[in-house]
Amino acid sequence: MELDLVVAWGAAASALGLGLGVEEVLSHGYAALGFSRSSYLVFRDSVLDAVVTGVAAASMAVVVLFVAILVWGRLTAGRDRDGRGLAAWRFAGGVTAGLVVLAILSFVPDALDRRTALAVALATLAVAATLAAPRVHAGSPRLKATLGAVASSALFGLIMILALGLPSRFCFSLGEVVARNTAVGVAVVICFLLTRSAWLRSNDAGSTRLSPALTRTVLGAFIVGLPLGLWVLTPVLARPTLSAANAKNVVLIGIDTLRADRTTLLDPTVEGRSLTPNLRALASRGTVFSSAVSQSSWTLPSFASILTGKYPQQHGAMFLTGTLRESEVTLPEVLREAGYATGAVVSHFYVDERHGFSQGFDRFRTDYDPMVRTLVNSERVTDLGLEFLDRHRDDDFFLFLHYFDPHYEWMNHAGWDFADSYSGWLREDPMDIYNLRAKRHLLETPEVDWLRALYDEEIAYTDAAIGRVLDYLREHRLLDSTAIIVVSDHGEEFLERGWLGHTITLNEEVVSVPLVAVLPGAGGDGTVVESTVETRSLFATVLDYLEIDDAQRPGASLLPLIRGETAPAGSDIAYASVWLPPDRSDVGKNVVMSAVRSGDWKLIVDHLRGRKHLYDLATDPGEAVDLSGERPAKLAELLTLLDDWVATMQEAGVDLPHLEPDDELREKLRSLGYL
Ligand SMILES: [Zn+2]
Repeated sequence: MELDLVVAWGAAASALGLGLGVEEVLSHGYAALGFSRSSYLVFRDSVLDAVVTGVAAASMAVVVLFVAILVWGRLTAGRDRDGRGLAAWRFAGGVTAGLVVLAILSFVPDALDRRTALAVALATLAVAATLAAPRVHAGSPRLKATLGAVASSALFGLIMILALGLPSRFCFSLGEVVARNTAVGVAVVICFLLTRSAWLRSNDAGSTRLSPALTRTVLGAFIVGLPLGLWVLTPVLARPTLSAANAKNVVLIGIDTLRADRTTLLDPTVEGRSLTPNLRALASRGTVFSSAVSQSSWTLPSFASILTGKYPQQHGAMFLTGTLRESEVTLPEVLREAGYATGAVVSHFYVDERHGFSQGFDRFRTDYDPMVRTLVNSERVTDLGLEFLDRHRDDDFFLFLHYFDPHYEWMNHAGWDFADSYSGWLREDPMDIYNLRAKRHLLETPEVDWLRALYDEEIAYTDAAIGRVLDYLREHRLLDSTAIIVVSDHGEEFLERGWLGHTITLNEEVVSVPLVAVLPGAGGDGTVVESTVETRSLFATVLDYLEIDDAQRPGASLLPLIRGETAPAGSDIAYASVWLPPDRSDVGKNVVMSAVRSGDWKLIVDHLRGRKHLYDLATDPGEAVDLSGERPAKLAELLTLLDDWVATMQEAGVDLPHLEPDDELREKLRSLGYL
């Protein structure tokens, strides 16, 4: 009777857990996105969540059942007449002790993950049943046998969990998951049946000692079951694991449209303005790359390169109507496969699900309206990011936060006064990029300075919002276990070459971007790496740091540079391009440009117009003096590099996907100044 009750309660609780799991699947909203692979992964994890929830609920049901037995025993059986009452008291006492342990753990930050909870619950059951079983005297052999079996099977499950290291988040293929759970489940059921029958056969119901037959049975179950389980699960145990010395979480902060020279990473102020004090404090714990080159000068190809490790021509998301194809392997996809909870908050349609950027993310939040150019949402991006952290800080997590405010239109922000002093005519004019570009010949120094001051306010405002994320990580003691990377996709032009905005050039103001990497345990406390690096290297760097093997890992890891090793000769080379050829100008531009930076030298080639510009950034960081005529040898050297690179890229660029430009897309592109 008691056993039937346990089974019934357990089944009901498991059903409840499965129901919760279904709700979890629905809450991801992945079905609407049409990414079948992600849907499968989310579903897989959620079902497992549900099973675990069901087991935990079943354990609680058993506790409730025995509390009922306790009351029933006290009321009907008389005081300890057959030992039932005392047995129930002992059981309840053991369970209460376990619950107290759980309650205490729940108040210790980061102490209670799912594995710990399950292990404590099973240990509680084992101890409680062991305490109670010997007190059940003759007349209740079934109860005594059930208690004994609960004790030994719970103990067995506990040992399996501890031996196999059931992770707080499942990260295996479906076959492995089935093998894993089947092994544990079958072992526990066999253990339960064997020990129960052994208890029944042991026939000295009043004894407080295990009979030799029972001892043999339990030992036999352990001796046979454990190696069997380990053997079945060997492939699971061989999965890549993280180095204990390294952090386990990753936060990637992408700040749209942030020039490297409008940050205060290295100096406390620029032109008297403290622009990024929070990022500066962060950088003091890690590495600043002072010569980081973005792989393009606009959003789609740049972020696609950061998340895939590939050049734009290789990942294919390089046209105005382009998308990142699903066959591309993104950083969140790799990390998700390695067991990470992955989340993103983005504020630009070029990095949304329609453009292929939700691949690999469990949770993918967008936060923009159609008129993105006037969007102010850094606070909101942080809020949504903190929601994710609240939910997943006990998991291994990867969080991508995409901030947008520095992008035009440039707006002022309460709390910063960089732009307050200007009172010229532009204050009364529309601030949209078309108007500004149309009147760019009218913009005098005060106007341009004001636009830059507004841009600076947007940057400082964004930095403050990011500061809240860093505060959260500090308050929850996650800084030592979290790699934090800050990068931008491109900069912004303020009439350096007669243009406002970005996308159509490859000069320093648009391709030189901030890059900060804080990788706990990897060294680099406030160091500056001056070697030329590509932002696409972040893909390989993160996998290298987390020691996740990926045979197809493109790009070079920056980890050796962060550790203070010198760069191999010839490795400080970076390429950038804008590839909007006439035959793909279905919407927008007509620009085909590429650039190579090798050390301090940089060559920009305009392929449509046949122009070449060579600059020495060491003496001319503003790229004012073209040295292509004066330094023919250097020109030839860089031209060879670039020609080889372009040839390789043209081999790669086939069958590129794109969206048909409908009215909505055209309107978005127009609102952002791309048309
Ligand atoms: Zn951008």
